[in-house]
Amino acid sequence: MNFEWKRGFTIDFNLKTGLSAAVESSKRRASNMKGMYCDSEAELKLIENGDPLMYEFHEIGAPEDSGDIAAGTSIVYPGKVGDEYYMTAGHFHTILDTAETYYCLSGEGYMLTENKEGDAVAHPLKAGEMVYVPKGYAHRSINTGDVPLVTFFAFRADAGHDYGTIKQRGFKKLIVEKNGVPEIIDNPRY
Ligand code: MN
Repeated sequence: MNFEWKRGFTIDFNLKTGLSAAVESSKRRASNMKGMYCDSEAELKLIENGDPLMYEFHEIGAPEDSGDIAAGTSIVYPGKVGDEYYMTAGHFHTILDTAETYYCLSGEGYMLTENKEGDAVAHPLKAGEMVYVPKGYAHRSINTGDVPLVTFFAFRADAGHDYGTIKQRGFKKLIVEKNGVPEIIDNPRY
């Protein structure tokens, strides 16, 4: 069986493996991200002026058991809200001790990670390179380039997502454009 993914990525599945036959796709627009960017005025303007698509992700729809692997692609579009680059909402895993690997297929940016003890690390994302998000770390991808940032991700399928913690307090660091280049700064609202 052959699934044609957005932007030409194709993955072949054998139905005998028991994978469900549907790719699950999700899209997040500016209005879905309301309150997550520092510049709320710029955020509101974007929502009123076309509510652009910021990112989308596509999952293979594997069973969510401990021995299964959830995998798919994530696409973050280029753009900024004020001087803050487009990013994903970011999450911890509900089973906190769950690592995840991201392989960058195209574009450039960062994988911002932090654990509950306050250790924050920004891993560069570059086409052809892998980022390993260790157990216990929340993660968010940020597109600092001018083409879509596309990554392939995989993690244990029963890990679940905790979006609430990040929605409440954000990440410790922000990635903003300063003098035309990305800069990692402290989040003033954290
Ligand atoms: Mn994850």
